[in-house]
Amino acid sequence: MKKITPAKVDDKKMEKIVALCKRRGFVYSSSEIYGGLAAVYDFGPYGVELANNIKAAWWRAVVQLREDVVGLDAAIFMNPKVWQASGHVDGFSDPLTECKKCHNRLRADHALEEIGIRADEKMDQATIDDLFQTNKNKIKCPACGASDFTSIKKFNLLVQSNLGNFTGDWTKEPVYLRGETCQGIYVNYKNVLDSSRVRIPFGIAQIGKAFRNEITARQFVFRTREFEQMEMQYFTHPSQELVEYEKLRAARWQYYLDLGLKEENLRWHKHENLVFYAKAAYDIEYNYPFGFSELEGVHARGNYDLSVHAKGSGQDLSYVDPLTQEKFIPHIIESSVGVGRTFLAILSEAYTEKEIKGETRLVLNLPYKLAPVKIAVFPLLKNKSDLVTKAQEIYDELKLEYNCEFDDNGNIGKRYSRQDEIGTPYCLTVDFDSLENNDVTIRERGDLRGGSELPRVKISELKKFFTDKF
Ligand code: ATP
Repeated sequence: MKKITPAKVDDKKMEKIVALCKRRGFVYSSSEIYGGLAAVYDFGPYGVELANNIKAAWWRAVVQLREDVVGLDAAIFMNPKVWQASGHVDGFSDPLTECKKCHNRLRADHALEEIGIRADEKMDQATIDDLFQTNKNKIKCPACGASDFTSIKKFNLLVQSNLGNFTGDWTKEPVYLRGETCQGIYVNYKNVLDSSRVRIPFGIAQIGKAFRNEITARQFVFRTREFEQMEMQYFTHPSQELVEYEKLRAARWQYYLDLGLKEENLRWHKHENLVFYAKAAYDIEYNYPFGFSELEGVHARGNYDLSVHAKGSGQDLSYVDPLTQEKFIPHIIESSVGVGRTFLAILSEAYTEKEIKGETRLVLNLPYKLAPVKIAVFPLLKNKSDLVTKAQEIYDELKLEYNCEFDDNGNIGKRYSRQDEIGTPYCLTVDFDSLENNDVTIRERGDLRGGSELPRVKISELKKFFTDKF
């Protein structure tokens, strides 16, 4: 039995991040006025900007800056045979146990990990049940505290629908909501090959929704039943699979550093229990407030995916090398990460509290390129039309290049702290001196100096100033 160090939990920080997300319009519970829907969330006005910026940064790094990767946007619904061939209908499951006292459901592998015993969802039912039965007296139900659980059952995570079935008895032949985006890539591999200029090795990337009937979903946007994935599948010659895999691992690590995550908050987790077809599997874990947990999977999958779809569809999915005429089924390496998990990692990293004169001030130190609002423009006073007009003119000019916010509401200190809480890098204020001198004060995020101490920049030089900064 493998022992691991249980995660260090900072519940307070997690609670504060959740509260900030609600208060400042980053994330709301889905259909909240009806009591919400477990493990489903909506992104609010600043959340959607942050999520879009995360997706844009990923797309830029993974697709646009690489000559060997192209994009795709496959539909959420697919022929159900896809999910049979891929093995999801029979095998896409997590180990479920139920508290006999309060009927709360738990993921057995997670419950074991929480007491320091290495387990994962890929273990077969008997192995994980054995491990669970041996240790279950140490595991407490998070809802009622009892240590009395049922034996482990494997629970299939695919979400089903009645799409296109009007018989009323659709459960026998459900159409699935995709459990992962990459199947859309595998089944389009031949289309992409035949209709674009890619040659092996090459990658296909996509961003899109995925759905899973997660057993427990207690960690905010880290684990949701509807979520978005950013996946890149890279098709290689069999002999090059592990060579390309190491390159991909290095690229993905560097990507997170470039995104602004600190290296000490990242680590590799090597899968010890590989599925039979996998050549290698590592996850990149991030140090969330509830401890190190999977942010992204980087896996070498052999030729499993294309082989099962060749068999399932009866189509030849092999590749013929145009130079050597060698024919082979490409091997696939993948990088797969959730938007929600990146979002939470970015927020955890950025969340900063400052104690000032007994007061706690919150600053969200987001990387500039991810900040929902780049520049906030304020007239010092709302009821002075000269100030408002000038500020509005500046806002109208800057918004053509940056996502800006105009705010004339309330006292200036409150406006600054509101922008600090949503991570806006710069606030500029039009005051009475601006009317004389055609300049504005520039306040950098988190700066606590008073207005008279802030630097001033000429309005005519603002564009250059921000080009240098961003
Ligand atoms: P876990 O072990 O945490 O359940 P997984 O190994 O099943 O995750 P994968 O199937 O490898 O996850 O999915 C790839 C990526 O998609 C994950 O690394 C994660 O970033 C994201 N992801 C998976 N499931 C969820 C979910 N329920 N909510 C949010 N993101 C998810």
